[in-house]
Amino acid sequence: MSRDTLLAPQRKKNTNGVPLFKQKVTKLDVKLDNEVHYEFGGPIGVCAMMIGFPCLMYYFWVCLEYHQGRLIYPSSLSQVKPWIINEIWNKIKIGAYPSAWATQVYMGYVLFSFVLAYSMPGPVVEGLPIPSLNGQKLKYLCNGLSSWYLTLFVSFVCHVSGVFRLTHIIDHFGELMTVAILWGFFMSAVVYAVGIYSGKTHRMSGNFFYDFFMGATLNPRIGHVDLKMWAEIRLPWPVLFYLSLSCLLKQYETYGAVTAPAVFIVLAHFLYVNACQKGEECIPTSWDIFYEKNGFMLIFWNMAGVPFTYCYASIYMMKYQLTTGRAITHSLPYTVGIFSLLLVGYYIFDTGNSQKNRFRMEQNGSFIVRNAFPQLPWGHIKNPSYIKTEHGNLLLTSGWWGVARKPHYTADLMMAISWGLITGFDSFLPYFYFCFFLCVLVHRVSRDMERCAKKYGKDWERYCERVPYIFIPYVF
Ligand code: NDP
Repeated sequence: MSRDTLLAPQRKKNTNGVPLFKQKVTKLDVKLDNEVHYEFGGPIGVCAMMIGFPCLMYYFWVCLEYHQGRLIYPSSLSQVKPWIINEIWNKIKIGAYPSAWATQVYMGYVLFSFVLAYSMPGPVVEGLPIPSLNGQKLKYLCNGLSSWYLTLFVSFVCHVSGVFRLTHIIDHFGELMTVAILWGFFMSAVVYAVGIYSGKTHRMSGNFFYDFFMGATLNPRIGHVDLKMWAEIRLPWPVLFYLSLSCLLKQYETYGAVTAPAVFIVLAHFLYVNACQKGEECIPTSWDIFYEKNGFMLIFWNMAGVPFTYCYASIYMMKYQLTTGRAITHSLPYTVGIFSLLLVGYYIFDTGNSQKNRFRMEQNGSFIVRNAFPQLPWGHIKNPSYIKTEHGNLLLTSGWWGVARKPHYTADLMMAISWGLITGFDSFLPYFYFCFFLCVLVHRVSRDMERCAKKYGKDWERYCERVPYIFIPYVF
């Protein structure tokens, strides 16, 4: 089969009562897509973030690695400088030096995942019409699932055969994190420079720092691999999963047994990464793909931020046991409660995202049936109800989308808090992900609502009347 044939979209006739909408890009779409607003505090805010993110990652790493997750600080203002040198800088030099080993492992995985994204089999779907490309729809080869299964198999063989013991990952956490941080900056710079050089820039503000942070191009590609989609799901979530798995294996190797909280966190991360791969075909119609540009914000966060900060719960529990000799465990009712919170959150997250994205794919004519495990009941709504907008797009009002306007965010936050709760209440760090993610989603909601209100006008008001709550019915 030639690559052109492979990349032909696999259309299915729509039979679910959702009218196929031959989406055309309106003048308003183009206007909204081109509008530049300074977000995140403008150039000063984004510079602070570009400097602050890596500093924060190192600070938290020192707290976890050397102080059992306790937040440390200098004893007085005059001690700030020596404190930074002794407590932070000297520790980074010893424990987080970007060694050749860490570079080979991290970059080897980056390359491996890219080769899989390029070559593994999978269905092809079309994204939404892109205003800046005169409504053209890009095609996406969704081979995340086959790549994920192959990655699991290869890592299992490497671990069992002793070629690469997965416990080494957590033993070299600091080094790997530094390589990931450097790679995040390097890749952002290359993608930005190529975008400028090729002239395919979009929605530029004219301020270098702001544009570097937000990105220069919308959909940069190498061959048929969309770099943004690859970076969104192929790197961060699998690396996060392997970090947690590494902690679990370390616990087993050191103590000969595993605890329920350590199993919990591996299950939680497995569910997340698996959900991203099995539902990959839904991602081309998501906000990050059709609207966000591929800049430092997405690249750095996916390459370094997500895996190396969302994993604090696993590392905290492992370090706690290694330093105190006691494992973190909870009463049976508490453990069952947190497992239930995770699983209910996961169910709503999985089915909520599926319901909306499949509905949008039906409208787009790109819906395909996939039986990737697990297919949960109610993930696809038969004959859904919706609001038809003057723009032409349909707004789903059935399923979880009749209950709230962002049910998938609520579900994601339920999972996020469960990752912290499973560690107990002695350290803030396992809750960092929840706090950070809450801020991200609240900010995203306000940006998205503002955009939708402009795009759909009176129809958006009708939709908000029909589905009045954003996160939790009768609460908010
Ligand atoms: P959404 O899935 O909420 O997409 C927003 C867009 O969907 C809107 O702009 C609008 O697009 C369309 N839309 C909104 N309401 C409806 C409706 N009722 N019916 C049909 N279309 C609608 O955004 P995200 O891409 O932010 O989220 C996807 C998932 O990714 C979420 O579960 C989120 O939690 C997760 N996520 C996780 C992150 C992490 O770090 N863990 C980070 C970011 C996201 P249009 O203008 O085309 O109509």
